[in-house]
Amino acid sequence: MRIDLHTHSRVSDGTESPAELVKAARAAGVDVLALTDHDTSAGWPEAVAAAQEYGVTLVRGMEISTELDGRGVHLLAYLPDPTYPPLVEELERVLEGRTGRFPGMIARLRQLGIDITAEDVLAQSGDAAASGRPHVADALVAKGVVASRDEAFDRYLGMGRPAYVHRYAAPLEPMVRTVAAAGGVTVIAHPWGRSGRQRPDEDDLAPLVEAGLAGLEVDHQDHSPAVRERLRAIARELDLVVTGSSDHHGTGKSGHELGVNTTAPQEYARLLERAARASAASGRPTPEVVG
Ligand code: AMP
Ligand code: ZN
Ligand code: FE
Ligand code: FE
Repeated sequence: MRIDLHTHSRVSDGTESPAELVKAARAAGVDVLALTDHDTSAGWPEAVAAAQEYGVTLVRGMEISTELDGRGVHLLAYLPDPTYPPLVEELERVLEGRTGRFPGMIARLRQLGIDITAEDVLAQSGDAAASGRPHVADALVAKGVVASRDEAFDRYLGMGRPAYVHRYAAPLEPMVRTVAAAGGVTVIAHPWGRSGRQRPDEDDLAPLVEAGLAGLEVDHQDHSPAVRERLRAIARELDLVVTGSSDHHGTGKSGHELGVNTTAPQEYARLLERAARASAASGRPTPEVVG
């Protein structure tokens, strides 16, 4: 059984519609798929219908932009009640932060002599609920300024690069609690990916476990074998579920093909057990796994 618990559609910064993503998962031999668009559940209904059509088991999730000590942490949330008001309100703040940062990014790019407008970016983000830097990157690719999203981040959009603009992210521990109160479970996405720093570390994680954190995404393309080994040991120590996933973004991210990393069936079962417990404790009407 192939289980892939972290993927993006065009509802955030992937390049496939939710239905195309589910269909692609079937073709890639993925049996259990989680849709985890950035900061939104807007793709869920289309994905549910497609999962029923193509016979894929679907876990409804999202990847929430959070912050710990001023640094970004991506938090995967599975099976929360998406109508729980504190969750809705905080996601709205995050989405507003995304929208609010665009004028600044465009202005900086223009100062650098690049002829780019808000319309150019909107042409790339289309109907996305959560537009992001990848859409700015796509606009730069479309203009021939850079060859790829990666080059756009390396030269302009990544943290510390000249067109980088900070945006609001939800404080991490309160968000772990909010998702639990919404009857869902949380897993830290690529905990030691990209930034290269080895945080959150064990000291950061202990209070998060107390707050209801369920797992760590250990097997991810941004983690070296040594990092995976270390994170696996920490997960074992803290009794956290170990997940693995592709973080697929369609053609938007190479090396992240569906099923490139997977979650072991027994770890998936543990995650579902914790979700069932959170759901019962919350008293919220939480979504079921489809199929
Ligand atoms: P944003 O959500 O607007 O802050 O943009 C962050 C998103 O951009 C991440 O979730 C990734 O999907 C993508 N991303 C971050 N770094 C890179 C990179 N170096 N190359 C391509 N995509 C990236
Ligand atoms: Zn993304
Ligand atoms: Fe992420
Ligand atoms: Fe992601």
